[in-house]
Amino acid sequence: MERRRFLRSAGLSMAGLATAATACRSTGVNGSSRVSPSPTAAAWSALGGSLAGRLVRPDSGEYAVARTNFNPRFDGIRPAGIAYCENPSDVAECLSFVRRYGLPVTPRCGGHSYTGASLVNGLVIDVSPMSSVRADASSNTATIGAGARLVDVYDRLGGEGVSIPAGSCPTVGISGLTLGGGVGVVTRKHGILSDNLRSAEVVTADGRKLTCDAENNSDLFWACRGGGGGTFGVVTSLTFDTFPTSDIVVFFIDWPWSAARTVVDSWQHWAPPAPDELWSNLHVLNGQGRSAPVVQVGGTYVGAQADAERLIETLKARIGAEPSSQVIETTSYDHAMMIMAGCTTLTADQCHLPGTLPGRTSGGRESREPEYAASHIFTTPLPGTAIDAILAAVSRRGGLAGGGNGGIAFDALGGAANRVAPDATAFVHRNGLFNGQFTTTWAMDAQDAATRAQQSWLRALHDTMKPYASGQAYQNYADAGLSTWKQAYYGANYARLVQVKNRYDPDRVFRTPQTVGSR
Ligand SMILES: Cc1cc2nc3c(=O)[nH]c(=O)nc-3n(C[C@H](O)[C@H](O)[C@H](O)COP(=O)(O)OP(=O)(O)OC[C@H]3O[C@@H](n4cnc5c(N)ncnc54)[C@H](O)[C@@H]3O)c2cc1C
Repeated sequence: MERRRFLRSAGLSMAGLATAATACRSTGVNGSSRVSPSPTAAAWSALGGSLAGRLVRPDSGEYAVARTNFNPRFDGIRPAGIAYCENPSDVAECLSFVRRYGLPVTPRCGGHSYTGASLVNGLVIDVSPMSSVRADASSNTATIGAGARLVDVYDRLGGEGVSIPAGSCPTVGISGLTLGGGVGVVTRKHGILSDNLRSAEVVTADGRKLTCDAENNSDLFWACRGGGGGTFGVVTSLTFDTFPTSDIVVFFIDWPWSAARTVVDSWQHWAPPAPDELWSNLHVLNGQGRSAPVVQVGGTYVGAQADAERLIETLKARIGAEPSSQVIETTSYDHAMMIMAGCTTLTADQCHLPGTLPGRTSGGRESREPEYAASHIFTTPLPGTAIDAILAAVSRRGGLAGGGNGGIAFDALGGAANRVAPDATAFVHRNGLFNGQFTTTWAMDAQDAATRAQQSWLRALHDTMKPYASGQAYQNYADAGLSTWKQAYYGANYARLVQVKNRYDPDRVFRTPQTVGSR
């Protein structure tokens, strides 16, 4: 998280700051296989005509954009249709259609899945048109349409003086984020986003429109809080507890690379046990053309700047080396979210992907980014040998072709995030000190050989860190190369998640790789 903000702000001051032509084969829950006729052009037209929203097919001028996700790595997937659903009935129509023809289907919100799980060659159910954001002061809750982007959530709730503890990337969707947990810049104060979920509206594979909360369909509600997106049904609306916002402290501190070892070692002992009000992360990153790798601590403090400064001084004293740059600033909560989103100088409208399709804005200035990612959750501090291995690998990243940046962003855990029992919701990770997000990005025109070399570099670094990590990985930083994903994402909760899957999607209508219940 926060990588985009980091890439833009590192070293800067705050101010600078195929269409299915053949029959489709589908596999049932018991492994049996059946062949269904492909939908004809007339059947597709009938589907389009039955929806309140629009159905984009390969012959449409909008298809080239509609079929893409945030990450261009998945541009080779060519859905037979993308249905922009206006309401739960549209979703039910789409599910009835894919069941009739045995078509692959997946829901899509912000399209940020690291494994391309919101794209299939069949039908993509895009919930972006359902993007309303309504705060209710009488219940201290907000009901958010399943297709809202985070920048709009922050912007509209900000207008009501409230917020929810969501993530930092402005174009990430509220659905994917919540269903896989949701970590953000006030997570240590207010908890994982899914811990703040009060209810969800879900259309199940058989077309039923269910409310799930603590009293109704509580097993589905449990699974919706961390059990992963695209698994149990299509969420159409989410209701969260809100908190009132006030000014917040934002900080970014860089050290010279020569101090990197002591910065990493000091941060990992400082950040996880800090007061809940302090959230921080540590970036250790490098890219082609940089004069030196970057080591930066950034974060937020929910409280007085003097208190934040006192805490930051204890980190600096522990490190013992002078920062090369430092910014500590108190600002409005809304502006802080824009800073963390990398949208400091943009309006909320500009902080979108450009375009006219739902979820985009005509004035949007954000851009897509090719990247490869993995994660480890660490429950014990890194020994010196592990830190040395990270620094050596990050140094090597500077010599790789293809552009972009690569390294690790460590997000502090602890605080409210860890005060929930691991089986209270499907989000099992309650003992982490910090989450390590391993990423490498490259230029849109990078050569295949360069992107392969970058991915091998990332896998090698991830493997090197395995002996020091807990075996847990964050399901929202989905990693197609992780063979142990069931245990790593869900741990002891996996068996219960399979029971929920068997109850709400016994025929495995939702079956992209790494969904609960898949092999
Ligand atoms: C640049 C970037 C920044 C990120 N920053 C953060 C961060 O700050 N904090 C954090 O915790 N994570 C972060 N992530 C990870 C992010 O939380 C996950 O990638 C998340 O799954 C994205 O959700 P989405 O809706 O944007 O993506 P999508 O690709 O649309 O969906 C992700 C998954 O959820 C499913 N899904 C989508 N909509 C629905 C629905 N309505 N009902 C049921 N299933 C649905 C999809 O089928 C897919 O399996 C970031 C990722 C990227 C690429």
